[in-house]
Order: sequence, then C-alpha cells, then structure tokens
Amino acid sequence: MLGLMQDHPLLISSLIDFAQRHHADGEIVSRRVEGDIHRYTWGDVAKRARQVANALDGLNLAFSDRVATLAWNGYRHLEIYFGASGSGRVLHTLNPRLHPDQVVWIANHAEDQVLCFDMSFLPIVQAVHSRCPTIKTYVALCDADKLPTDSGIPHLLSYEAWIGKQPSTYVWPTFDENSASSMCYTSGTTGNPKAALYSHRSTLLHAYAAALPDVMCISARDAILPVVPMFHVNAWGIPYSAALTGAKLVFPGGAMDGKSIYELIEAEGVTYSAGVPTVWQMMLTHMKTNNLKFGTMTRTVIGGSACPPAMIRAFNDDYGVEVLHAWGMTEMSPLGTLCTLKNKQLKLPPDAQMQIRLKQGRAIFGVDMKIVDEAGNELPWDGKTYGDLLVKGPWVLGAYFKGEGGDPLVNGWFPTGDVATIDADGFMQITDRSKDVIKSGGEWISSIDIENIAMAHPAVMMAACIGMPHPKWDERPIVAVVKRPDMAVSRDELLQFFEGKTAKWQIPDDVVFVDAIPLGATGKMQKMKLREELKNYQLPSL
Ligand code: ADP
Repeated sequence: MLGLMQDHPLLISSLIDFAQRHHADGEIVSRRVEGDIHRYTWGDVAKRARQVANALDGLNLAFSDRVATLAWNGYRHLEIYFGASGSGRVLHTLNPRLHPDQVVWIANHAEDQVLCFDMSFLPIVQAVHSRCPTIKTYVALCDADKLPTDSGIPHLLSYEAWIGKQPSTYVWPTFDENSASSMCYTSGTTGNPKAALYSHRSTLLHAYAAALPDVMCISARDAILPVVPMFHVNAWGIPYSAALTGAKLVFPGGAMDGKSIYELIEAEGVTYSAGVPTVWQMMLTHMKTNNLKFGTMTRTVIGGSACPPAMIRAFNDDYGVEVLHAWGMTEMSPLGTLCTLKNKQLKLPPDAQMQIRLKQGRAIFGVDMKIVDEAGNELPWDGKTYGDLLVKGPWVLGAYFKGEGGDPLVNGWFPTGDVATIDADGFMQITDRSKDVIKSGGEWISSIDIENIAMAHPAVMMAACIGMPHPKWDERPIVAVVKRPDMAVSRDELLQFFEGKTAKWQIPDDVVFVDAIPLGATGKMQKMKLREELKNYQLPSL
C-alpha cells in the first residue's frame, strides 16, 4: 500500500519560490567587484532568477545543459544558482583559482555551453576561450556600459543587458527530482579532476539537514557571511539553506582579505560565517594586530581541513565566537559531520569540552558512516581504534560524472580516503588523509596532531607536517612552519615545545622555516607541492 500524501518533487525552484513568498524582504548584501556595496532582497533574487531562466531559454539551451560560472560570492552569482538549476540546466561552478589549463580541461569535460564570469576573471576567460569549443555564449557579470569592447571574446554579453530585456515572470518547469542540478569538480590531486553531479533531491535534502540546530543551525534570525566560495561545493550549501530559512546573506565578493571581511561583518551585523582554517588564520592575525573585537558574530563553521585547537580557543576565549568544526567532501554535497555538543557534554569542564570540539563531529541524519580495517571489517566506536572512513546516504556521490574512475563504491559505501576514529557518542575524528598519514617504524603518526601542536605556539602562523623517507623507520615527520612576522622562535625552541604534548617518538625530527606553505584552489595546504619543494631536504639524523 502506498501512502496517500501529495507527490511533489523536491526542486531547487521551490526554494526560491518559498523565499519570495515568505521572506521577500530578507536582505542580500554584496560587496561588488566594482568596489561598492549592493543591497537588495530575496524578492529581487527571485525576480532576477526568473529573468536568468528566460535568458537561458532564449539561448535555446536544452534540459541539463551546463551553465558555468567563474565568480566570487555575490548576488548575480546567486541569481544564476537559482535561474540555471530552476530552469532545468546544470549549474557548473568553475574554480577561478585553478590554472587556466585546468579550467580548459574541466570546461571541456563538462561540455559547458555558457560561461558567466566576474570582470576580475576576464584575463582567465581571455586565456581559455579559444580552447573551449562547447562554450557558445560568454556573459560578463556587469552593466552594459562596463562591457569591454576590445576583449577579444566572441559573443560577449553584459549580464545586465542580457537579463534586463527578459520578463521577470517564468513558470518553473516540473521534472524528476533526481535530475542533475549542479556540479563541482574535485581538485584532482591524483589524476584528472572528477565531477560530483548533484541532483535537485540531494540538494534539497542537504539544505534541510544543514539548517538543523545540531548541524549549521541556520535561521531567519541570522545574517550569514559565507567566506567559503560559491565555487567550493556550493558554499557548503549555504545559499540553499538561506533561501529555505530566510537568513540574510552578506557576500564578500573578491575582497577576501582579513580587513575587508572584518569590516563587512561589523557593518552588516553578521552573526554567522563559514570558511576554511587558512582564511580565518588571516582574519585572526588582522584582529589581533589591530586589537579588534566582534560586535555581533557568535558562531562560525570551520571545515575543509582540520581546525587547529589554538584557533578554536582564540575564537572562543578572545572573541566570544563558537567554532562549529565540520567535515565533508565535494562528493558529499559537502556536509558529513558537524561538531555540536550534546546536553550531557555541556556539563563537562572546559578542557574536556575542548577535547570534543576538536573532533570533526557527529554524523548528520542522512549520512551513515563506519570505519573499517584493511580487510573491510567494521571497527569499534571506542574513540581509539582508527580505520578507513566510509559513508553512504542520499547526498553522497554514487558515481562520478561520465563514470570517470569506474565504480567508486565498495558494497554501496563511498570510501572517503580519510582515516578516522569514532567514539561511543558517535563523534568522528579525522586522524589524517590516508595519503598524508606518516608511517614510522610500523606505527602511524597523525600529521594533523603534529600541526595542531605547532599551531598552538604563539609565534607559529601556519604549520604543515609531512613524512620524510628514512632508511630505518620508513618515514620520519618534519614540520614546515611559517612564523608570525612580529615574533621570533628557533628550531630548538619549537622542538622543545612538543615535549610532553605527544609521545616522544612522534615528535618531528626537524623544523623547517618557510616563507609560505603552498595552498590549493580551495585554500587547503598542498602537501604534495610542499614535498616537491622540499625534495632536496635531508633529515638531520642522516
Ligand atoms: P578536495 O578533496 O578537492 O581537497 P574536498 O573539499 O572535497 O576537496 O576535500 C575533502 C577532504 O578534506 C576530506 O576528505 C578531508 O580529508 C578533508 N577535510 C574536510 N574537512 C575536514 C576537517 N574538518 N578536518 C580534517 N580534514 C577535513
């Protein structure tokens, strides 16, 4: 017997319809690449998303054709999110921090038809357009009078002129909720990038789940500034959850430095933010140097790579901001776990609470997880035993776009490539990425643990731990450190700092001071590149 409830597909267009009907006056504030501040409302987003849909129809795009963007976080990008997916096309957010050759490869692989780009990315488009045969239309996200006449890009349109001609009425089509809605390529640290292809259903379920109190806790009371880019797994789903709840959105545009973001947070009464640790590191340095405090901000989600305890403490103790440590992947839309404490844990002393906050957190309903040994046997949830982390659920990838890489699943589970423990309360903690874990004398050393200790030293701005080949131990850890410009610390002092904080054999063999640690297109440390940079390095004991 089937249930007798109405059968409505979960479609992204319903989010923007809902936003228009229920919180049309909710604010969207953007720092534009033009430099000024732009303000409008969810009602305006809904109208202009319909104009985008009409404009795409005018290009005779078919259902599921790809509409690519090369854009910062901003209101026009948001309109394309809803206009492209809502009209049945697939939104493809390209990462502008990639090398132009990679952009070409990805755009061709995706068979993008349209490319909408912020003017700051004009040089990238100029470098790639002649090698992207599937892209028929280029749209610069600007007013008609700002359109360059000598760009060399064929069929270049101004976004405002393009959508300005279109009616703001549009009947969103109804179709199967499992239809593709958007796509995002992984960074492809091994081999070519592969794309996760999200569906309307997976996106809506993720949007519901992300808004839950024990997850991102997004509500109409919030003003959210997503520092995480809209080209990095759809800004972790925030645009969708904000439309669903009526949260105010504040977009930083291209001004991603600590000072500009801080000023926007204060000016717009931002309560809530989200980003990778490296971005927050810049922000905290700016705030410390200038003796600044937050007026309204109370929470921030930090994920994408392990959040160092020193950062969680600084946010909490110095600035009164609760850090919600999160873990996820491009292949998971991206949320998998969030670290929010249970009632009984709130009664624990601060240090014990901190030990829990360091973990990547509890699985969200919709994500099932387990850890397994090399033979695939499930391991206990005791907080100590570590194993390969596998996940499954309705917003977890089942196959890559075009079947790249073959079947990624193992008995229906997606292997994350992360090594983790899970405790009896269900809190998962990443030990390492399996390719970054250091194998010394048959034992494993977590590079994240070593980095966390180094980052707790006041003179350390950034730290990356990697294994170096060793004839006796296989590998020994060393730590590459970027010092704070205004402080001094020696190699020996830093090595001494590790004493008593970890087992003696896990203490790195050396500290290498570097000017910078290579960061990838999503702001994560690129250890492969660092290993390459240090290829002539010799361990002191050899
Ligand atoms: P990419 O794989 O392209 O770098 P993703 O954003 O998909 O981009 O990265 C997912 C990986 O990032 C995870 O598998 C994990 O290794 C790492 N990661 C994400 N969040 C955290 C976190 N909070 N702590 C530690 N590692 C994390």
